[in-house]
Amino acid sequence: ANSQALLATDQLQVLYGKVEALQATNIRVERGQIVTVIGPNGAGKSTMLNGIAGALPASGSQRGQVFFNGQDLRGISIEKRVAMGMSLVPEKRELFASMKVEDNLLLGSYRRYQAGEKNYADQLSVVFDLFPRLKERRHQQAGTLSGGERQMLALGRALMAKPQLLMLDEPSLGLAPLIVKEIFHIIQRLRQTGVAILLVEQNARAALQVADYAYVLETGAIALEGNAAELAHDQRVIDTYLGLT
Ligand code: ATP
Repeated sequence: ANSQALLATDQLQVLYGKVEALQATNIRVERGQIVTVIGPNGAGKSTMLNGIAGALPASGSQRGQVFFNGQDLRGISIEKRVAMGMSLVPEKRELFASMKVEDNLLLGSYRRYQAGEKNYADQLSVVFDLFPRLKERRHQQAGTLSGGERQMLALGRALMAKPQLLMLDEPSLGLAPLIVKEIFHIIQRLRQTGVAILLVEQNARAALQVADYAYVLETGAIALEGNAAELAHDQRVIDTYLGLT
């Protein structure tokens, strides 16, 4: 089932104890697509992403299935999923503050390095092309970067693993409007490199602008889905998510 899609969930459900944070949901990401999951605080967006990435906390339990390139990911660790081509940039950007920018990036290619690929320099130059700011600051301690630069570093580190699917949890969170614009511009450029993106966002307007397809998640369930450009013109979406902001 679902063997065609890059990513497909089949009745993926997540519970924290008895609380169902994500009801059984089906989502798909095709190769090279940008798919967004929008919705309010607490809707279950991070929960869905973490379930897909294999990054749920111990208190979370999961039912249903996640398929990546047709392969059932049940029982496969987060590290293995990274090696298979999925990278997650979590909401808390989790950088190594006392390490240099460049060393944070190199950690992102660690799994590939272990798998025998010793030449990370090519991918490093790809990342530096996308983020000239990181190149300028390659020897700076990650902890001294600005919020926007930290988000770039988190994105760059995930890209060092050469993912087929990049999963971004609220990349615009806490950033100034100008930086948000820059981050979304980079997301669009990333698509041109062929990587598929699953983008969780509260910034519905910006997310619908870059995405091909969108899901609206409300209290743990998909309330609406469709072509992103069409959803941006849907009166319900406009009233609820695009209103005044
Ligand atoms: P936000 O944008 O605020 O991060 P979200 O849509 O990503 O929201 P989740 O973080 O996935 O939502 O949370 C969904 C629900 O699950 C919320 O009610 C939240 O309180 C609950 N929840 C999240 N993580 C846990 C956890 N580790 N243990 C128990 N409940 C949790």
